[in-house]
Amino acid sequence: MKETLSTLLATQKFDERIAVLSRRLESLPSELGERETRYSVLEAEAEGFFVDQKKALSWAQSLENDVRDWEARVEKLEQQIRTLRDAGAAQVAQHEAEQHRGEIAKAEEKALGLLERAEALAGKGIIAREGLSPELEELEMFRKTVAEDEIQLQEEIAYLQKERASLFQKAQRAGRDLYEKLMPSRKGKPMAALRGDSCGGCGMSVAPNDRLKVAKMASIATCRSCSRILVPEELWNSIREETSVEGPQD
Ligand SMILES: [Zn+2]
Repeated sequence: MKETLSTLLATQKFDERIAVLSRRLESLPSELGERETRYSVLEAEAEGFFVDQKKALSWAQSLENDVRDWEARVEKLEQQIRTLRDAGAAQVAQHEAEQHRGEIAKAEEKALGLLERAEALAGKGIIAREGLSPELEELEMFRKTVAEDEIQLQEEIAYLQKERASLFQKAQRAGRDLYEKLMPSRKGKPMAALRGDSCGGCGMSVAPNDRLKVAKMASIATCRSCSRILVPEELWNSIREETSVEGPQD
């Protein structure tokens, strides 16, 4: 039974390593996604300056169109004023022309402000676009690293899984079944060391006769509290130490 316990202990070390690598592998897409989102935000910010610039320019253009219409109207009114004989009608026309002149002045001032704003926005947009290229470079580099890491992790996991499988089958059937049954609920740690008089997995104290069973290693001893397979601390330490879970060496 000592053989089986040793094998299962070594298996657990493999499983822990495989779990760490798998978590790392699973986290890569979301890490990349975060970077990509961050870049998209920066890109949208830069383009936003140009969108606002175009809006300001088109507003200024529409004001200039209004100005031209009003100027034409004022010119026509001035002609009328010169030829009108009715003083009252001339006064009405004069009043309308004054109103348009006021509107023209206001619109011209507004258009000028908009043109200045458009220029400032274009400047900001150019700076923002320039700032994007190192960001893009960094993103591309990260993408490459992620792709490489993914391959490396997949290879390492596949290698470790193969090693783990051939190791695991050396354990006795009963031990394997119990190990696999406990595996999901004990978060990949179905084995625990007996530390002093308590279970190294859950910390609960282990009864004297159970401790004796653990020490003998003639059969599988389990913790009455967490159901983990208990092994003597010395065995735990020596197997943990001698089991190498390094990936393929190149
Ligand atoms: Zn326990």
